[in-house]
Amino acid sequence: MSLHPFFGHADLQASLSRAWAAESLPSSLLIHGPRGVGKQRLALWLGQLLLCPETGPAGPCGDCKGCRMAMNLEHPDLHWYFPLPKPKRVQPAKLAEAMEEARYEALTERRNRPLRPESAATEPTGLYMAVAQTLRSQANRRPASGPRQVFVIGDAETLVPQESSPEAANVLLKLLEEPPLSTFLILTSSEPGRLLPTLRSRTMPLHLPALASDDVERFLIEVGGVSRDAARRAAQLGRGSIGRALGFLPSEGEPPPLESLRAQAFELLTAASDTDAGAVYRKSLEMGAARSRSLMPLFALLEEALRDLSATAAGTSGSLINTDREAFLERIRAGRDIHPVAVTRAFRHLEEAKELAAGNVNPQLIMAGLLTGIREELIGNP
Ligand SMILES: [Zn+2]
Repeated sequence: MSLHPFFGHADLQASLSRAWAAESLPSSLLIHGPRGVGKQRLALWLGQLLLCPETGPAGPCGDCKGCRMAMNLEHPDLHWYFPLPKPKRVQPAKLAEAMEEARYEALTERRNRPLRPESAATEPTGLYMAVAQTLRSQANRRPASGPRQVFVIGDAETLVPQESSPEAANVLLKLLEEPPLSTFLILTSSEPGRLLPTLRSRTMPLHLPALASDDVERFLIEVGGVSRDAARRAAQLGRGSIGRALGFLPSEGEPPPLESLRAQAFELLTAASDTDAGAVYRKSLEMGAARSRSLMPLFALLEEALRDLSATAAGTSGSLINTDREAFLERIRAGRDIHPVAVTRAFRHLEEAKELAAGNVNPQLIMAGLLTGIREELIGNP
């Protein structure tokens, strides 16, 4: 097994290849854009480009030993870091070593299973201080096999897992200020606003937009081996993100991880349009005491459910994302006589809830506030 091909951004790949050939590629890049559109995959492709001795106008040759090692995640000069859970019960002195072991294990898993769906996983992960130090000492070593080495740092915003400890980000900052010769750093982030401004200002931004739905569908069929009908449905729900689309497909015998979350989003909408105000509180109490940041994927799906309600209220249900919920949405609209403007106002409460969730407010409180707010917009106080 090796990495899946990078898909849907041929123009961008061509211009990066040209920049590299013209020696005008900056040594620090920040690839940003929505989750699951292939930012880290693009960064790894760039790494392959930078390490291939026989690049052509279309990019790396794809055939040489270096290319094959890069695609198998085995190139000794292509270093890929990404957030991982912190190992438990490890002495501080052994932490860096334990995190490197965990990273190698994760790389093996990614090699064996290149198509990873976006999931609703809630285990806290981060790019912790120990990882940043490992990265720095590696950057100060000489490349193993060629003239340069490349570091890919995925989800770089997690370098600051707690606002109170910016050390991990500072280590990286030092590296960006005085990069060792022939070291390339490629950061990726779907939340670049959470990066330290100093990190942002030292990297050249490169935006990777959402893919066209057709490209996602083609990827699922050609690379994922998914049936045409299932691919179309998942691509529609994926909204331009391969990672999200994969989350709506069963994988290795497991049910689709995002499907139950989508059902939950519609349950929230049901509670928020219930004439019984108690429904909001019962639903909020179900939230448990999970970390509030883990609510974000659910909020994204609730936002789409609200968008669909808005389309239904405006009489444009041809543009629904959740086409299988058309009858349900029409029932709510007709039953509560919901006006499109009311739904538009409801989005404001969702934005507030996202801010609170980023600030680690109790998830049950956030949910109660959010659903009460939406309910007041949708049906007032009957
Ligand atoms: Zn090559």
